[in-house]
Amino acid sequence: MVTETTRRPTPIDNLPKAELHLHLEGAIRSQTAIQLAARHGVSLTPEDVAARYNYSDFRGFLETFKWVTSFLRDPEDYALITRILAEELVKQNVVYAEITISAGVMLRRTQNVEANFQAIREVAQSVPFSRLKTAWIFDATRQFGHDAAMEVARWATKLQSCGVVALGMGGDELAFPTVNFRPAFDYARQQGLHTVCHAGEIGGPDSVREAIELLGAERIGHGIAVMRDEALANSLATTGRVVLENCLTSNLSTGALAKQTGNPAATVSDHPLPKFLKLGLPVTLSTDDPGLFHTDLLSEYSHAASLGLSKEQLVQLAEQSFLAAFLAPEDKRQMLVDFRGAVKSAGLV
Ligand SMILES: [Zn+2]
Repeated sequence: MVTETTRRPTPIDNLPKAELHLHLEGAIRSQTAIQLAARHGVSLTPEDVAARYNYSDFRGFLETFKWVTSFLRDPEDYALITRILAEELVKQNVVYAEITISAGVMLRRTQNVEANFQAIREVAQSVPFSRLKTAWIFDATRQFGHDAAMEVARWATKLQSCGVVALGMGGDELAFPTVNFRPAFDYARQQGLHTVCHAGEIGGPDSVREAIELLGAERIGHGIAVMRDEALANSLATTGRVVLENCLTSNLSTGALAKQTGNPAATVSDHPLPKFLKLGLPVTLSTDDPGLFHTDLLSEYSHAASLGLSKEQLVQLAEQSFLAAFLAPEDKRQMLVDFRGAVKSAGLV
């Protein structure tokens, strides 16, 4: 976890927060990777993990994700990483998290999705985390193809009554045409699930368009390619229906921002988040894979502040995560009341 000394505090630190784009497996910090490997008889040094957690492009990142998840073999492993993530979220005053689970990876490894999920849920709902409400997104892995995505949609449906709220898709955005995944997303929607999709992270603006038009995605993971397409940016701002889940450190770590800007030396100051807010696009802020990117939510707000966002814009950004949440209307209303009350008490309005 990022320490106090390495980041500047922001007015958001003490507010109740929601986080919507957060991968359970991507939250594995190096110490936990060592612990998981040890559980399966593999001895890793901090240097081994540091070498694996160091990549310069998106493919390198996917390789690391594959490597670290290879140590997730049974429900106890999933329980362990859930407990550590929940502790971190509570410390940061996160009161609601929609956590993405790579069900596609579990199925690929012929694991028992239901047993893993029950272990995850049991931990998340245990007493120490009573202040944290959680909901779950089952993610298909794009490069595994459309049949595998359909299988994830079926599992998400089956476990809907246990808190799965959406079908998502991540992995290699450039693998397979988007239209291939339409049946899986149509099925999920017909079954009452929400839908989200990573797009415009390393793919272009058309990838975002397709995720919305073909898959019906209600929220787009990243969507930073929208910065390259004024017409798309304007239409998203006008309708205000689709939310872009921005993750600043992630886009630097995976080289996604370098790719979108055509500048290999791109820094956080090149991120389109301020532009999106100025245009009136609904945007949220998240960590994506806090363990793999050595970040946390407080740091992401700190980075957002460093982009010149005003106090009001930071509050707006934090509020958007509640507005865009897949919560029941009554729960959403209550969380917004609490959030706005805290904003007021903190003298931020
Ligand atoms: Zn993601």
